[in-house]
Amino acid sequence: MSSELPVWAVIPAAGSGSRMQQDKPKQYLEFQGKTIIEHCLDRLLCHPAIDGAVIVLQQDDRIWEGLDYHSNKTIFIADGGSERQHSVYSGLTTLQYRCGNDAIALVHDAVRPLVNHEDLGKVIAAARAHTAGAILAASLTDTLKLQNNDMEIARTMPREGLWRALTPQVFHLQVLLNALRRVIDDDTAITDDAQAVELSGYNPALVAGSTENFKITTPGDLALAEKIWLNQCNQQDDE
Ligand code: C5P
Repeated sequence: MSSELPVWAVIPAAGSGSRMQQDKPKQYLEFQGKTIIEHCLDRLLCHPAIDGAVIVLQQDDRIWEGLDYHSNKTIFIADGGSERQHSVYSGLTTLQYRCGNDAIALVHDAVRPLVNHEDLGKVIAAARAHTAGAILAASLTDTLKLQNNDMEIARTMPREGLWRALTPQVFHLQVLLNALRRVIDDDTAITDDAQAVELSGYNPALVAGSTENFKITTPGDLALAEKIWLNQCNQQDDE
């Protein structure tokens, strides 16, 4: 990839958040006086390598327009779809409409507010150097057990060479657009963006990232996120 290409964040935020058992989507839950999606945007838009963002929202979302970022000139809005892959695709077509084909898309879950500056720089640099793009990932530290039908251990699985995929996942816009179009046309279920690119025959690069960059999924995760966020702020102050 050329180092001249602009980098745009594409943030899928059109999930219902049903696992959170809350009356609003989880990216609008708050800690330290801000919603989760605002914390995400604070991290992404202050990064010097990121030019702007496309946020993908549910069509009936009425919360976004009440946030300060609503009037930000470097943020565009797209309509979400039934599955995450449809939402990301919608965000990418909006990006293509605004910027043309020559852009790098940095896809980041709206519910990962703890991604750090250094990891953002590393994954963007790797994606610029790698035609197939790059993703942040964490190596596995726990031993893996496969269960049997009686909820007993059937066997221990080898964990060498296995990684947990995080976001951001960063690709040339056209590579990801074509890959997602194919999986959507074929009705293939995928669990991250890299999988679509892999199914197109590419091997995206793995970049080791901080495990603090976790996805807020259940109510208990919010307190943990706040604790990590405060710790990260204190570390920054000490530097
Ligand atoms: O559901 P999950 O935790 O995998 O969601 C990850 C991200 O994808 C969230 O930011 C969520 O809002 C988004 N999403 C979306 N459209 C969907 C489903 C999920 O934008 N249909």
